[in-house]
Amino acid sequence: MVLRLSQLFLRTLREDPVDAEVASHKLLVRAGYIRRAAPGIYTWLPLGLSVLRKVEEIIRQEMAAIGAQEVHFPALLPREPYEATNRWTEYGEGLFRLQDRKGADYLLAPTHEEMFTLLVKDLYSSYKDLPLSLYQIQNKYRDEARPRAGLLRGREFIMKDSYSFDVDDAGLDASYAAHRAAYLKIFARLGLEVIPVAATAGAMGGSKSEEFLFPTEIGEDTFVRSASGYAANVEAVTTVVPAEVDYSSAPAAQVLDTPDTPTIETLVAASNQIFPRPDGEAWTAADTLKNVVLAVTLPTGERQIVVIGVPGDRAVDLKRVEANIGAFLPVAGEIGLEAAGEEDLKKHPLIVKGYLGPGMSLDQALLGSEGNAKLLYLVDPRVVSGTTWITGANEAGKHVYGLVAGRDFTWDGVIECTEVRAGDPAPDGSGPLETARGIEMGHIFQLGRKYAEALDLKVLDQNGKQVTVTMGSYGVGVTRAVAALAESNHDAKGLVWPRAVAPADVHVVAVGKGEDIFATAEQLSLDLEAAGLDVIYDDRPKVSPGVKFGDAELVGVPTILAVGRGLVDGVVEIKDRRSGEAENVAVDKAVDYVVNTVRNS
Ligand code: ATP
Ligand code: MG
Repeated sequence: MVLRLSQLFLRTLREDPVDAEVASHKLLVRAGYIRRAAPGIYTWLPLGLSVLRKVEEIIRQEMAAIGAQEVHFPALLPREPYEATNRWTEYGEGLFRLQDRKGADYLLAPTHEEMFTLLVKDLYSSYKDLPLSLYQIQNKYRDEARPRAGLLRGREFIMKDSYSFDVDDAGLDASYAAHRAAYLKIFARLGLEVIPVAATAGAMGGSKSEEFLFPTEIGEDTFVRSASGYAANVEAVTTVVPAEVDYSSAPAAQVLDTPDTPTIETLVAASNQIFPRPDGEAWTAADTLKNVVLAVTLPTGERQIVVIGVPGDRAVDLKRVEANIGAFLPVAGEIGLEAAGEEDLKKHPLIVKGYLGPGMSLDQALLGSEGNAKLLYLVDPRVVSGTTWITGANEAGKHVYGLVAGRDFTWDGVIECTEVRAGDPAPDGSGPLETARGIEMGHIFQLGRKYAEALDLKVLDQNGKQVTVTMGSYGVGVTRAVAALAESNHDAKGLVWPRAVAPADVHVVAVGKGEDIFATAEQLSLDLEAAGLDVIYDDRPKVSPGVKFGDAELVGVPTILAVGRGLVDGVVEIKDRRSGEAENVAVDKAVDYVVNTVRNS
């Protein structure tokens, strides 16, 4: 196809849109690929659609290659299936809910596990029908708290979501592995560097899960990696746990006056004065047990206090707490999490701010349920049995010294909750961790039987017994991929698309006024098209060469063919958008030259 700029629905802009912060957002708007319709909601213009379709096509081919079949669900769905899995509530404020004229509840789907499960239940009933993988490429709706960065975090966005159905765990492992391999191929074909990282399953439930992160400074996800291959989302990093300590000869704990020591710093300084370490070394923050009071807002709206005990040299990372606290709460779903405020503390008068501790002995425990209805008390994995701590004595101005974990106090659970630092050891022993930022491009989950159980998806197995199906779910952010591609392929002048997704193969520019220039440019465009290429032809009369070149560079097609002054000598200029290298090529060789360039890249 030849897209003529005199006809194409395109207006490029000289100025960055005022609401844009990141390069992909600025350039996709300026180069006429997308327009904002509302916060986090975008209209696709012809050039944008062309790139989007190419990304989708690559995904479709790789899904077909693993035998996944395409279907298409509505985005507007009834409440009931989501009620059955409790996600109507669990999704919290992220869900767009609406009602029809009769007052029945509907939602705009944020993801489609329920519908796929019900569809398979509707039509299939035997193990012979499985394994099965279905997918769709479809709009999703999430009322994101902070839609940002254009297409990177939208409230309407396109996702490719697939779902696998198997009779047993081995089948699920195979489906998961097939999707994982397909994802690596998709991102390789797109030319997007991604790192698969271990992830937590979050609100989706299920067990094994990995994210495919595109490393970039503007990413909202922090992940860690070691030099020799370990990589994980920060939420999923597991702490290297110290060995348990024999406390049979540890002295009894004692309470000492520590006036004016409400912070870890003041406590460490005072401790070195009044209670020097027996071995002559100095106490450090790591010797103290800091008890952080958090308020959790449950999906039901109820507020619950949780206390987390961590070594005093570590900050609590709320994202890690949020990802891992689910197992300790009475209801599943999206929660709110913050430091407890004055109002919360008022309801728990036993909490002495700055001097909170688990209690001097097991039977005086303030924290940890241990049969009594005490406050839920979770600890960092470094608090292992036999470790000795300096911590609050639950009285202003007093701390307890030599409090032994497992002897003097206990806890309701162990939680990954503290900040992960550069230099921390990787859990697989592969060396120190470094931290980096990234954007999640894809996410694969072993859901297991959670959805099949909730919606009663069973098949008859080989022995004629009803078994619950096990499922996986796999998502790629399609519109996010377009943005990530723009983010990683641009320069000061504009976009620089990789060939696989460029809106055209070649951008022909007629530069100057002569009729022969336009006639030659026109003919070359038609010949390039006849050779099977997608062509943009800047045929606009009376537009200056500067504006035409500026637009060509902004739009970012990989090859620019300029027909201009050189024509009197029988040559045109063919320029590589990425390297900026230009070559004069004889007019009658130009088509072959471009065709070869496209083929060889
Ligand atoms: P994030 O952590 O970035 O919010 P998520 O974990 O909520 O993403 P999933 O539910 O795993 O996302 O969705 C699958 C894929 O859909 C993601 O890997 C991402 O590429 C894409 N995606 C999710 N939310 C958005 C969004 N708001 N805008 C664009 N793409 C998105
Ligand atoms: Mg995800």
